[in-house]
Amino acid sequence: DAVLLWFRSDLRLDDHAAVAEAVKSGLPVIPLYIFDDSFPARPLGAASKWWLNRSLAALDTALQRHGSRLILKAGDTEKILKEIIKENNIKTIFCSHTFEPKGEAFDARFAADSGIDVRRFNTHLLADPSAVRTGADGPYKVFTPFYRALLSKGYADGHTRRLSKSPWVAPETWSESLPLDALDLHPKLTPSGQDWSRGFDIWTPGEAGAHSRLQHFIAHGLKNYADGRDRPDLDLTSHLSPHLRFGEISPHRLLHDVERAVEHDASLRDGYEKFRSELAWRDFCFGILCQQPDLHHRNFKPQFDDMPWEDDTRAFRAWCRGETGYSLVDAGMRELWQTGIMHNRVRMVCASFLVKHLMIDWRKGEQWFWDTLLDADPANNPANWQWVAGSGADAAPYFRIFNPLTQAEKFDPKGHYRHRYITGFPEMKTSRSRSAHQKFEQDLFDFLGHKPDAEAGTGMIVDHGKARQRALDAYARLKNED
Ligand code: FAD
Repeated sequence: DAVLLWFRSDLRLDDHAAVAEAVKSGLPVIPLYIFDDSFPARPLGAASKWWLNRSLAALDTALQRHGSRLILKAGDTEKILKEIIKENNIKTIFCSHTFEPKGEAFDARFAADSGIDVRRFNTHLLADPSAVRTGADGPYKVFTPFYRALLSKGYADGHTRRLSKSPWVAPETWSESLPLDALDLHPKLTPSGQDWSRGFDIWTPGEAGAHSRLQHFIAHGLKNYADGRDRPDLDLTSHLSPHLRFGEISPHRLLHDVERAVEHDASLRDGYEKFRSELAWRDFCFGILCQQPDLHHRNFKPQFDDMPWEDDTRAFRAWCRGETGYSLVDAGMRELWQTGIMHNRVRMVCASFLVKHLMIDWRKGEQWFWDTLLDADPANNPANWQWVAGSGADAAPYFRIFNPLTQAEKFDPKGHYRHRYITGFPEMKTSRSRSAHQKFEQDLFDFLGHKPDAEAGTGMIVDHGKARQRALDAYARLKNED
């Protein structure tokens, strides 16, 4: 007899209740990962596959230190589970909740049909979404009361459930495992057809990489996080999102370590509180996904179903490639391409630009991010896209349309961020004045070889004022249709 430890989006050993309980069972533990493009729901994007490849290798190395190893399989989840169960006479599966509605439904059905004891734990979120409910016992649709409830119920404390101290019993015989390369997780993207992942080398996927990111953040980012997290030119955020996405570190572990740091240095408190509320947004997004399983292709607010999107292939391509002529948008899209990540403030500006300035359907932008972001997350990505588009839960009001020029002046005052990602583009000479920013934009058109657009009179793909008005008019018509 043996127990199955089934890894999904929880690729770590630390602070992992399913790992601890499987080990505590005293039976031989078979750790398994199944690569199934249709489980739980949506095939992974290319950048995510790059990450997963390395994360699985790191997990296998960690397991080998316990005298164990990771069994890798590819194919239909249900079929593979049944084979392994039969082969090893398994009565219990230990795993984590995925909190993806289709995955949750699969687990429940599989347990009922097979008679296997499937023990699931929350290792992914601060709180299981079913535990944080409104007074009327409904799910939250607005962040602030959700966060209040999360705090008042004590879910946002940094307690940790440590790995069991019991010895890890390995099975005497092992099921066959595929070599990692057989999972074919090498990225093949792209419009250019090139392997674009060279710039990803700044990342270290896996549990050890996650812990060193956290320690770096505590030492260098946390203190000024509350005031500086919106500044893409300053490196003050944690860069933990891809690690959290693949469950290489737990949110409680983050809070635990950050709280310990605050105990030693009270000046970190503001940063801690802001950081905790950002982590709570992640929980909130999963709560929204639970309410709307098709979040990446269905408007949370159906009113937006009638939005007259433009089918403009040329504009979409210019956006993807960072060739819109708006320096902050272009730098963001290039950061994404070069590093697999984009700063949150810039994500908001780029997404808003696509949806409101270009009037292109948010689903196209969401899919591009899904393919190119290393942290592409089944809840955070669609929930944030819908938040920006105005169609989501607790969304930004539609009429608040970011001006990419003033956003750049405010959040990248000296142009350092834009200079970093628009390779070869000269640095801003003088700083902070409006005319310096205008010159910067003008130089960018020349640099990109843009011809001034006859109508807009600039090298930008659309004129901000006209685009803004067009978006507002479209929205006004929507409302009239109510
Ligand atoms: P930090 O500022 O250090 O925050 C710590 C953690 O809190 C993050 O790692 C993340 O897990 C969580 N968090 C922070 N902001 C948010 C937020 N707005 N919503 C949900 N969780 C948040 N985040 C993803 O993890 N995956 C995505 O696919 C994703 N897509 C996005 C798409 C758009 C259009 C926008 C506007 C935002 C998106 N975000 C996404 C949220 C946010 O941009 C990233 O989580 C953040 O930039 C990651 O950087 P960090 O780890 O340094 O964040």
